[in-house]
Amino acid sequence: MYSLELENLTKKYGDVLAVDSVNFSCKQGEFIALLGPSGCGKSSTMRMIAGLEEISGGEIRFNGKRMNELEPRDRNVALAFESYALYSPLTVYENLELPLRGKIEKNEIKKKIIEMAERFELTELLYRKPRNLSGGQSQRVSLARAIIREPDILLLDEPLSHLDQRLRSIIRARIRNTHDNLKNTTTIYVTHDQDEAVALADRIIVMNDKNFQQIGTVEELWDKPTNMFVGGFLGDPSMNFFEISAKNGELHFPNGSKLKLEINKNNNRDVVIGVRPDWFIVNQTNQKKPHISGEIKVIEFQGDQNILTVNTELGILKLITDTEKDFLNGSKIGLNFNPKKVSLFDIQSKKAISL
Ligand code: ADP
Ligand code: MG
Repeated sequence: MYSLELENLTKKYGDVLAVDSVNFSCKQGEFIALLGPSGCGKSSTMRMIAGLEEISGGEIRFNGKRMNELEPRDRNVALAFESYALYSPLTVYENLELPLRGKIEKNEIKKKIIEMAERFELTELLYRKPRNLSGGQSQRVSLARAIIREPDILLLDEPLSHLDQRLRSIIRARIRNTHDNLKNTTTIYVTHDQDEAVALADRIIVMNDKNFQQIGTVEELWDKPTNMFVGGFLGDPSMNFFEISAKNGELHFPNGSKLKLEINKNNNRDVVIGVRPDWFIVNQTNQKKPHISGEIKVIEFQGDQNILTVNTELGILKLITDTEKDFLNGSKIGLNFNPKKVSLFDIQSKKAISL
C-alpha cells in the first residue's frame, strides 16, 4: 500500500499556476528524490504536503486518508527548508528540543539531541543562537530539527544547498543512513542536482515546468524515459536525439543501412531516436558498413573514460568510450545502434513510443 499519495495536486498563486495536477505515490519507508529545474514547482509541492500552503486543487492522502484539511501540526510531516526558519531567540539546543518538548522525557530528549548533533556536525554549536551561525550551519540545524521528530513523512527541500562540497557528501550519506534507521519514515528529498538524486534515492520523481514527468528507479529513468525531457535531463553528457524515418518496423539511416526494432510495422513515419552516449557500438575497423559514420572533433579525457564529440551524417553527437580504445582527433569512426539500447519518441508530443 502507498503511504503518501498525491492526486491531481494543483497550486495557483493568484493567476500564476505553479503546480499543475501532479500525481505520484510513495511507499512507507521509501527514499524518494524530487528532481527538476529551478522554478518547476518542487517547493510548492512540498509546502502543500506539509500544510504550509493552501491547496488549490486535488488531494493529498496519507495511509488512504485525505490530509488536505489537517493543520500542519496534525500531519506528522516535518519539513527542512532551504531557508532555515529557525527560532532566533532560542539556542541551537532549544531549537532541536522544541519539536520533542512534552512528548518524551527530558533525559531522552537530551540523548537524542546529542546524537543528532554528532550526526550533523553541530556539537560545538549547541549553545549558539541562530544569528551566530553560517548558512551551512543553520541549514544543518534545520535538517536535524526536522529529523529529530522521527516524522511519518520527512520533506527535505534542497537541505544541503549552503554546504561546501566536502561536507555535502558527508551529510548526504548520513541523511540516507538516518532514514534507513528510522525504517518507517517516507523521505522526499528535493534537489535540482541529478548526482545527488542518483546517489541517494530508491526512486526519483522528475518534474518540469509545473508538471510531474515520471517516477522510477534510476535504471528505469535511464533506460526508459517517458519523454524527451526526462531523457535529456538525466545524464551528462545527455542523451543524443536525432530525427529518423521508421518504416516496416525498421529505422532507416541516411546511408541506406537499417536497424530492425520491435515496433509496429504499419507505423511508417519520422520519429526521434534517443541514444545515450554510452549506448553506441563503436566500429573502429570498418569491416562492415556501420549505421552511421563520423569524424572525431573533440576528445575529452575523463580518467577512466573519454567523451568524444563526433560529427556524423545525423548531426553532432556525444559518445562515451573507455580509454583503452585509441582515438585521434580528426579520425573517422563508424557507429552502430544496439536495438535494445535506443529510445524512440514522437516528434510532436515528444513522448516515448513503446518498443
Ligand atoms: P522550485 O522549488 O521547483 O524552484 P517553486 O515551487 O518555488 O519551484 O515555484 C514554482 C513557481 O511558483 C515559480 O514560477 C515561482 O516563481 C512561483 N511561486 C513560488 N512561490 C510563490 C509565491 N509565494 N507567490 C507567487 N508565486 C510563487
Ligand atoms: Mg525550491
